[in-house]
Amino acid sequence: MSSHNIRSQAIQAIANSKHVLERLDFHETPLKELFGCNVFNEEVQRERLPKPIFKALQKTIKQGISLDPTIADSVASAMKDWAIEKGATHYTHIFQPMTGLTAEKHDSFLNVDSSGKAMVEFSGKELVKGEPDASSFPSGGIRATFEARGYTGWDPTSPAYILESPNGATLVIPTVFLSWTGDILDKKAPLLKSMEVLSTQALRILKLFGNKDAKKVFTTVGPEQEYFLIDRSFYLARPDLLHTGRTLVGAASPKGQEMEDQYFGHIPERVIAYMADCEAQLFKLGVPVKTRHNEVAPSQYEIAPIFEDSNLATDHQNLLMEILRKTASKYGMACLFHEKPFAGINGSGKHNNWSMSTDTGENLLNPGDTPHENAQFLIFCAGVIRAVAKYPELLRVVVSGAANDHRLGANEAPPAIISIFLGDQLQDIIDQLEKGGAKSTKQGGEMEIGVTVLPKLPRDAGDRNRTSPFAFTGNKFEFRAVGSSQSVSGPNSVLNTIVAESLDFIATELEKSAKAGKDFHKSIQEVLLGIIKESKKVLFNGDGYSEEWHKEAEKRGLPNLRTTIEALPVIIRKDSIDLFTKYKVYTEKELQSRYVILCESYVKTIKIEGRTALLMAKGMILPAAIRYQGEIATSVNATKAAGVDNSAQLEFLKTLTATITDFQKAIVHLEKAVGDHPEGDDLAHATHARDHVLANIVKLRIVSDKLETMVADDHWPLPTYREMLFIK
Ligand code: ADP
Ligand code: MG
Repeated sequence: MSSHNIRSQAIQAIANSKHVLERLDFHETPLKELFGCNVFNEEVQRERLPKPIFKALQKTIKQGISLDPTIADSVASAMKDWAIEKGATHYTHIFQPMTGLTAEKHDSFLNVDSSGKAMVEFSGKELVKGEPDASSFPSGGIRATFEARGYTGWDPTSPAYILESPNGATLVIPTVFLSWTGDILDKKAPLLKSMEVLSTQALRILKLFGNKDAKKVFTTVGPEQEYFLIDRSFYLARPDLLHTGRTLVGAASPKGQEMEDQYFGHIPERVIAYMADCEAQLFKLGVPVKTRHNEVAPSQYEIAPIFEDSNLATDHQNLLMEILRKTASKYGMACLFHEKPFAGINGSGKHNNWSMSTDTGENLLNPGDTPHENAQFLIFCAGVIRAVAKYPELLRVVVSGAANDHRLGANEAPPAIISIFLGDQLQDIIDQLEKGGAKSTKQGGEMEIGVTVLPKLPRDAGDRNRTSPFAFTGNKFEFRAVGSSQSVSGPNSVLNTIVAESLDFIATELEKSAKAGKDFHKSIQEVLLGIIKESKKVLFNGDGYSEEWHKEAEKRGLPNLRTTIEALPVIIRKDSIDLFTKYKVYTEKELQSRYVILCESYVKTIKIEGRTALLMAKGMILPAAIRYQGEIATSVNATKAAGVDNSAQLEFLKTLTATITDFQKAIVHLEKAVGDHPEGDDLAHATHARDHVLANIVKLRIVSDKLETMVADDHWPLPTYREMLFIK
């Protein structure tokens, strides 16, 4: 390999690099002290706020009582003093626009009085409301650029924190983001609304079960994040990774994941140093990260926190991704969150573990020990089953996107068909209920028992099924179709809303029966039976990857929206609009706008991929191939002149030349597809992007990967799969 080759330089750099791995000492600051030390949490609030103010704020945080605006000044002042003691010079309202994960604009605490003297200030008004210019964030037509004003509004339920950076620190305040007309422009507001809606409906049911203590029900989320880490030298030498997050070309490595030696394997030293660094930063921010391990594919890893309420879990998940991303370069690596950075090996997902909990700490999806608890569990569980059966397409569309399309339905991730895995034991109970009440074997023989004396339910589902997009795992559901690069806001907003709709249905039925004087447990049994009959088509405990399942699912009438393009129109379908407007999670205008934003984002993503593929094809791959072709041609002529038999070489030259010709044709086709401006609406543009641009990227790749196996290694201009995945 010639020394000017970028690949050999990268490998040299990796071989010679001495990364500073030891940067932390947990003896100095033990974990317990580290955790939450940069968070304006309950403890700090109690310490620093006047008692009545502390109480009022806690009421808002814990019970969802709306915030008393008069306390804002006092909270702001305490926050500022605390932040300045922690070394902060600036504050920012962080929000979740429709692109990317988060956005922030920083303002310093500095003010100057009329005599020119510096003061530090932070008022309640500044805490509660910010005014970032909204015109450069996607709004899907909600807001014209001349109405640029947008507002951020403080979310007191997610505590402010200090983000340390080189040369300073910033007080970060989680906020929602709205247009001046009140239309929602972000991902946090719908999540908060969906949580409230679910709380209201769940409380109705709990009341029927005689629960007088619970004042609020919130959903809990524990997202397991998968990601890849590769050396930064390789990353920088790959325009595709840099600009699109995935490799657009690249022949398979001779060794892939077939040895199954990576999952839960020994974590490389540089990687574990990096993980510990990220974790220390996250601990400080109060993010309860718990688990780390190697994933299935080479150079793939996972990090998982302890679950929290969905709103906080989402903010923490965004923070986690940001810290994982930015810390990687400190250790000479790049962190890849794309759902499918490498073809032919596993992609990355984000398992969204989800449940419902009361403010008194009861997990509503925890099968209890007593029959009474069992009946309540079964009702909430049935609520989830009914929701998924009724709105599978909403769950599909909320995890759609150009990147996740590469993963869903490829035989490694759940299929695009949404179904529920309950596990044998729970499925068995559902089957028994369907036959008219659960039976259990008691000493002395089998007896017929009603819902009041259901058998003891399994605490641990026991078996696992990795092929299901939505699985019950003992005391929670795991929504596995979420993509690794996606925010969990959307998936949880949808999940909360569709479950709220089911709980509303159940509560209404039960309340009606109660009014009519019906026996409570008899009406429970009736409701359960009705739901099981109506929803059982969505239950599937077998292999979600299998061909048979695809056929069976079709027979059952389950939707199979294979790509984003099929899924997107679901957002603006009448039943979706009816659902979200009924519960006031999204207005029709907001749904329209999200639909447009997602169509546009799909087109932009594919176009960037197309342009990047062309840049690499024309500027890197084709020149390398032609140079090599020249070498072979020279050699063919030389051998001919020398009078030796060169027929094999000539054959090779012909094959190489033919492949180069194919490659050039593929370039022309892709260029045309990228340059086309199709007629039609947003979906037509997205469809064109998929059927023409993406299709031609795929075709170009096939020829490029063929060339990669023909062209001399020292000519090949891009780090190979073998190198990126195995040189650490
Ligand atoms: P596994 O998926 O292997 O069963 P765990 O049971 O440890 O792993 O849980 C995985 C994730 O699920 C963790 O983030 C965990 O905190 C989260 N989780 C556990 N219980 C709940 C719950 N009640 N609600 C939401 N997430 C939960
Ligand atoms: Mg899991």
